[in-house]
Amino acid sequence: MQTMRAPAAQGAATRVAGRRVFRPVAATKVSTAVTTDVSKRTVPTALEEGEMPLNTYSNKAPFKAKVRSVETITGPKATGETCHIIIDTEGKIPFWEGQSYGVIPPGTKINSKGKEVPHGTRLYSIASSRYGDDYDGKTASLCVRRAVYVDPETGKEDPAKKGICSNFLCDAAPGTEITMTGPTGKVLLLPADTNAPLICVATGTGIAPFRSFWRRCFMENVPSYKFTGLFWLFMGVANSDAKLYDEELQALAKNYPSQFRLDYALSREQKNRKGGKMYIQDKVEEYSDEIFDLLDNGAHMYFCGLKGMMPGIQEMLERVAKSKGLNYEEWVEGLKHRNQWHVEVY
Ligand code: FAD
Repeated sequence: MQTMRAPAAQGAATRVAGRRVFRPVAATKVSTAVTTDVSKRTVPTALEEGEMPLNTYSNKAPFKAKVRSVETITGPKATGETCHIIIDTEGKIPFWEGQSYGVIPPGTKINSKGKEVPHGTRLYSIASSRYGDDYDGKTASLCVRRAVYVDPETGKEDPAKKGICSNFLCDAAPGTEITMTGPTGKVLLLPADTNAPLICVATGTGIAPFRSFWRRCFMENVPSYKFTGLFWLFMGVANSDAKLYDEELQALAKNYPSQFRLDYALSREQKNRKGGKMYIQDKVEEYSDEIFDLLDNGAHMYFCGLKGMMPGIQEMLERVAKSKGLNYEEWVEGLKHRNQWHVEVY
């Protein structure tokens, strides 16, 4: 069940393309996650220079930014609420596509020794490219699922046990201060070869780093990064209302029919070949011959989302590898060795 936004947020909930969307009142320039304009934009390419930023800010010396806007991007029948959150960073916490930020939620907790300590840092994959949703490098976006606790006995939500940081972020009013660390992570980076096909497999908020990829590949004019390969996104969610950034994805599919492919696995709406629920591994399996060929020819394969997605995917890939006379372990090892295999699950 989708949780409702707490009244603390100022603004108005409106409906865009059938979805409830939060519109901030205080922002000077409103960005929106619901865009169909995927034309290439000019960006300040100074952000292409230098080494990849890593752990610029730490728990002891964090960065303070402000929330610009929070939008619910799931529909009413989604199996939970996910928000697109734009943060005003003034460009002072630069990052590369595929990295994550840490967020330290406000408040304290009592640790195992009975001492009052600040809450720990939570990581969030960055859902915009380094240029942000406004293409000026002054913002960064997160895609956050509100963690709720449903009592297994009563089936009811227990607000006392709700996730601390995700609820803080999803309830944040424009202007709320946010304490950040990072950027962190080098597992999901884009390959230097701009012609290498990218096969991105996401479940839920695991789509976040791939949004940073597709914006860089298709929506920005970066002279030193001209993407010429195939971008293939497999996205697993429960139902149509749980799709994330679908408007942007449909526009890309329409504008780049030979370079952008999109396949959904809607577990509660579609059936797999055996008549069971359509999970992400079932959808990927439908194209396994093509995927194995692409990987043989230098494609990069990325996985991001909940940890639980990997066993099913691995079991499927192992079965397919065997049917092709391949030793699965050796095959995966080879991909890892050639840096073609990227997994970040949580
Ligand atoms: P917490 O307060 O840490 O609680 C965790 C869970 O425990 C919640 O489900 C909560 O309901 C439950 N809980 C709390 N109290 C109790 C209790 N007494 N009994 C039983 N259960 C309880 N998340 C995203 O949404 N988007 C991302 O892009 C994203 N990227 C990530 C990238 C990485 C590399 C990693 C490691 C994690 C990422 N996460 C992402 C997950 C994120 O870091 C947090 O773990 C998540 O938001 C939950 O944090 P929270 O503070 O809301 O919940």
